[in-house]
Amino acid sequence: MKYDYDAVVIGGGPAGSTFARVAAESGMEVLVVDKRKEIGVPVRCGEGLRNFEVIREGLELPKACYSAPVEGTKVYSPDGTALVWKTEGTRGWVLERKTFDKWLCELAVDKGAKVRVYTRAVGIIKDEKGRPGGVRLSHGGREPYEVRAPLVVSAEGMESMMARQMGFKTVHQLYDVDTCYQYEMGPYPHENLIELYFGNKIAPRGYVWIFPKAKSKANVGIGIGGSLNTGKKQGGMDGATPKRLLDDFISSQEKLKIASTLDDFGGVISVGAPLNEFVQDNCMVIGTAAKQVDPTHGGGIALAMESGVMAAKFAAAAHQEKDYSRQRLAGYEKQWKESAGKKVAKRLLVRKVLEKLSDDDLNHIFNSIAGKDLEAIMAGKFAGPVAKVVATRPQLLGVLGALMPEKKEGS
Ligand SMILES: Cc1cc2nc3c(=O)[nH]c(=O)nc-3n(C[C@H](O)[C@H](O)[C@H](O)COP(=O)(O)OP(=O)(O)OC[C@H]3O[C@@H](n4cnc5c(N)ncnc54)[C@H](O)[C@@H]3O)c2cc1C
Repeated sequence: MKYDYDAVVIGGGPAGSTFARVAAESGMEVLVVDKRKEIGVPVRCGEGLRNFEVIREGLELPKACYSAPVEGTKVYSPDGTALVWKTEGTRGWVLERKTFDKWLCELAVDKGAKVRVYTRAVGIIKDEKGRPGGVRLSHGGREPYEVRAPLVVSAEGMESMMARQMGFKTVHQLYDVDTCYQYEMGPYPHENLIELYFGNKIAPRGYVWIFPKAKSKANVGIGIGGSLNTGKKQGGMDGATPKRLLDDFISSQEKLKIASTLDDFGGVISVGAPLNEFVQDNCMVIGTAAKQVDPTHGGGIALAMESGVMAAKFAAAAHQEKDYSRQRLAGYEKQWKESAGKKVAKRLLVRKVLEKLSDDDLNHIFNSIAGKDLEAIMAGKFAGPVAKVVATRPQLLGVLGALMPEKKEGS
């Protein structure tokens, strides 16, 4: 086959642009295609991002890419008890993804990558052995044309249709997604804290978030378990759709119910386990397309960038040897599973435990622990916080004991 590029990347979000930047810097000729007319638009995200090494490593986040810095997190139990948690690990930003995504993409262009927007990948070209060898592209719905490359990278986000054509099992089960709704609202007098509200009546198997933005604005959103999004009418009311629950929440909050809505959208995010396989011969899947998302809160920007860097380094090594076999690319999958993958697995465990708790249990937990215990939980250190909770409610050991597999294995 005669190739047009060394790699074609499908999707110009944080994963695809980061992959393209690192691969182009290593000398690969890379084409990124995105079906959107403009990179980063429209925004479908809460835009929260914690301080994150991939951004710190040689990259300075420009002021235009974020709306407000975040000082910490305030978590509310169903009965309204608030825990404030402010540490180095809770600092971050609420981004302006319109400019952030475009900035990441422009960094890739600066390193020599080519980008085509309003260009949808509509099919995978296979070689005589059935391995991907390029992509069929359509600009604005026009007649498809072919672009050939020995490596095809799916950075398609939740849709991941091309990854499926390449043989990856990217179908989502309802139980393993959160369905979301969000408004940008203002004015909302916030304290530069991420606010999270828990409770089965507020957000079944999920939470309401308020992410602070500049000029007294905020992203106010909700995510609920996909299988709980019934939409069934109850007593003349709409069922448990995220929009209805979010509207109910907003009406219950004095400061929010007088604010205006400035943006309005719904979306779906994976909160289950990542794919088992991220690579096959001549192809890779990165970011949310590979279900690399934190299952406790649905955050995927940092993980997408991290996997973009990781995958690009292995792709560049494969390019040196002109060997894009599964075996040659597998280092990315192995490294991800040994690093980010371990953290994601623990977070999945937390999600599965949280969904078994009643509002009364949640109230009890919030009243038993402090902000620093939340930090330990997010770091995967469960023993201390669990001991505090079960000391006064031993019957919770049955559920919370699942958080301590290391203890079970050792005992
Ligand atoms: C409501 C909501 C709120 C969220 N809030 C947060 C948050 O606060 N913080 C956080 O970290 N994460 C959040 N997320 C998750 C986050 O948005 C994603 O995890 C992140 O954008 C993943 O980056 P990515 O590059 O893997 O994919 P994406 O950013 O989804 O990029 C994929 C790109 O691929 C393009 N594409 C798809 N198919 C094709 C095709 N066939 N041809 C060409 N282009 C294609 C799309 O147009 C898109 O631009 C939220 C998600 C939702 C739904």
